[in-house]
Amino acid sequence: MKLTCYPFDLLFSEVFAVSSNARTSTEVIYVELTYKNFTGYGEASFPPYMKEKRNLNLAFLKKLDLTRFESPFEIKNIWEYMDQMSAGYLPAKCAIDIALHDLLGKIAGLPLNKQLGLYSNKPIETTFTIGIGNSEFIERQLHKSAPFKKLKIKLGADLIYNKITIEHLKSKTTKPFGVDFNQGLANKEDAIEMITFLNSMGVLYIEQPLPESLLDNFLWLKDQSPIPIFGDESFQTAADIIRLHTYFDGINIKLMKCGGISKALEMASIAKNLGLKLMLGCMAESSCAVTAASQIASLFDEVDLDGNLIVANDPFTGIQIIDGIISANELNGCGFVKN
Ligand code: MG
Repeated sequence: MKLTCYPFDLLFSEVFAVSSNARTSTEVIYVELTYKNFTGYGEASFPPYMKEKRNLNLAFLKKLDLTRFESPFEIKNIWEYMDQMSAGYLPAKCAIDIALHDLLGKIAGLPLNKQLGLYSNKPIETTFTIGIGNSEFIERQLHKSAPFKKLKIKLGADLIYNKITIEHLKSKTTKPFGVDFNQGLANKEDAIEMITFLNSMGVLYIEQPLPESLLDNFLWLKDQSPIPIFGDESFQTAADIIRLHTYFDGINIKLMKCGGISKALEMASIAKNLGLKLMLGCMAESSCAVTAASQIASLFDEVDLDGNLIVANDPFTGIQIIDGIISANELNGCGFVKN
């Protein structure tokens, strides 16, 4: 198998702000793996709050020699080889893992969800994410979210902003919504104040209200909260689930955090067996990685795969969202085509 990789900058159609940063672009790497007449594609994304950096992941990818493997059917051996090369570099490994799964489906002549036995005719709803911004911004986003049945609202450290924004939202829509703090609240007192308020507003769930460093507070919060609390930044790998599963009600699994489809499947199985609710999320990514993630979406209780919708220069075409439902296509492999 032959590997090529190159950097690319995804440009956003407008500013996207969460509790830690606001930005108008995201750095990614694309990989292309060729095997016989087939080409598999993969993507690694690098939002600024991630510890992983693009230049180092690109250097790691350029050191890989995948010509030593006969076919993409050796995913397990390829993972062993990558992990022996170096620990970490999970976005780069994710890109390889997506490309390998894309090849598997293309060789088999099947969409990956069917090949993995994860096909479901049950409609899969995805949430529409609304970032942090002023009231005009929120209204513009609400207008954009019209086809979606569920929303995810980003909030942060400012309790007044949080309350005004949710009250504004509730005056404009009756759609169910979850809230993601991206570790934004300062302490457990602020968290419980927000949880009490959000419960009165009918919120579905709360995601990562506090920094991962305030671990013990999560145990206390889970005990106090009438609303399910999902961990996102606190979880990266399967080992984190074993360590932290009693601290949260649910887990947000993202291909970029954990290392792709192989690892997300492993984590979903462990988390479900330990009684956690499952959310499938994404970073700001193009239709390449978002569509790859959609192939395993039937395993999850909550799906948040809208990271590609803000991208103005998406080099791939994949899933379409129709009336808030992920409309799967019948393309072989991960379900995307390079434009
Ligand atoms: Mg999150």
